[in-house]
Amino acid sequence: MQIFDSFKSSLNQSLDLFLGHKIVIKREDLIHPRVSGNKFRKLKYIFQEIKKKEVSALLTFGGAFSNHLAASAYAGKNSGVHTIGIVRGDEWGRKIHESATLNYCVSQGMELHCISRDIYTQKEQAPIVTKLMKKIPRLRIIPEGGTEPLAVKGCLEILQSEDLNFDVICSSVGTGGTIAGLVNSSNDNQNLIGFNALNNTEIVHTIEELTNKKNWSIENDYTFGGYAKIKPTLISFMNDFYQQYRIPLDPIYTGKMVFGIFDLIKKDKWPWGKKILIIHTGGLQGVEGMNVQLQRKGHPTLLYGE
Ligand SMILES: *Cc1c(COP(=O)(O)O)cnc(C)c1O
Repeated sequence: MQIFDSFKSSLNQSLDLFLGHKIVIKREDLIHPRVSGNKFRKLKYIFQEIKKKEVSALLTFGGAFSNHLAASAYAGKNSGVHTIGIVRGDEWGRKIHESATLNYCVSQGMELHCISRDIYTQKEQAPIVTKLMKKIPRLRIIPEGGTEPLAVKGCLEILQSEDLNFDVICSSVGTGGTIAGLVNSSNDNQNLIGFNALNNTEIVHTIEELTNKKNWSIENDYTFGGYAKIKPTLISFMNDFYQQYRIPLDPIYTGKMVFGIFDLIKKDKWPWGKKILIIHTGGLQGVEGMNVQLQRKGHPTLLYGE
């Protein structure tokens, strides 16, 4: 069975009332064990197109913890399409085995090319990409994070009719595709709050290109130093949350968002309404790799699954 042909809709799980706020988490992390959460939504229509157009290989981009690379590798193998990953940071070329995510990509048959951070800033024009485009006919390129109009279309399917009763819907933001899909499928009287996981304030312009609606805003105060940076206060918050609710969060996206939501409510800086839906966009495949880094640096590790 091909993964995108059928899937269960995610369940909504309530948390305890918090300072008068009713908080519910949409467990998109449970829709698939490997292509979890928003990466499943984002790849669904892209893979439908890949199948229809008889693409010979797909090429995409990401960092050494990238949920998108892992999801693309799995989906490619599942669909019988060769996958190529362009990895940010040439140092990873010498230590693929040190990244649980990259290791996994290789196990799914993904061909990896690690390029310098400098070249990665212009990754679509990287020499290796130009070379592969010449060599491989019908190569499908998916942008970093999978964000393109077909991905936004897939993210329209996250919200169900019962979700349109919430005052506020929160999601973590990386490349902006997920929040754009959520905004496009929301009611105009709902507030969509995107918690930026990266130090990229330009993201608002990307989102403006993907939606015409105005009922959204971006919080930039909970990036915790940017992509995949390690902050002990975040780790201990996530572990407390896990012990209370048995809901694992990921340290790159959802952990920062949930921290931010509680922090803003505590500081009385939450003007958007008291019925809150949090989208758990998944990303838990990154926990294992993060724990290796935490252990190496002598920090406490993240609890999950035990
Ligand atoms: C990729 C990812 C995001 C960010 O999604 P974008 O569409 O790139 O904004 C959020 N959460 C998780 C768990 C992700 O893997």
